[in-house]
Amino acid sequence: MTSPTDHDLPLLNATPPGLYRHYKGGWYEVIDTVRCSETLQGMTLYRALYGEGLKTGGQWVRPAAMFAEHGRFDGTAQPRFAPHDPARVPLGDLATAHALIAHLRGRARRERQLQLDTALRPPPPEPTACCGRGCNGCVWEGFYEALHHWRVDALALLG
Ligand code: SF4
Repeated sequence: MTSPTDHDLPLLNATPPGLYRHYKGGWYEVIDTVRCSETLQGMTLYRALYGEGLKTGGQWVRPAAMFAEHGRFDGTAQPRFAPHDPARVPLGDLATAHALIAHLRGRARRERQLQLDTALRPPPPEPTACCGRGCNGCVWEGFYEALHHWRVDALALLG
């Protein structure tokens, strides 16, 4: 059996790399689109930016057509995965902060062969003390503000 030439292959329907959010709230990073050797269909290569996925960096594929699907999910017409601009993602919760940091570190490794924490600086540390009384000058506001500055500098480095 001969291998198919590029000319014979069906359209890849590539998923643009970047930061995505599943309609249930989880953050994901699309790395690339690859082709299944058996069906020849495009497969989105991605990783989860939360839970075990964040710890292990495990990568997954699912059909690109399914990744790009719009449908009625949880009773609302919406995309299964929505793209988000990392420069504009609102910072105000830890799940988003962790996802953004992992996404920018991953991009630096893949696109620039850089360790962002040394090529730039580590992201700001999470607060460990909380007054518990609803104080002025909340430590979390300071953290998200510092994280925003880190993001701006990281994106400038990535070009
Ligand atoms: S304002 Fe911030 S630091 Fe103070 S109790 Fe609330 S969360 Fe903690």
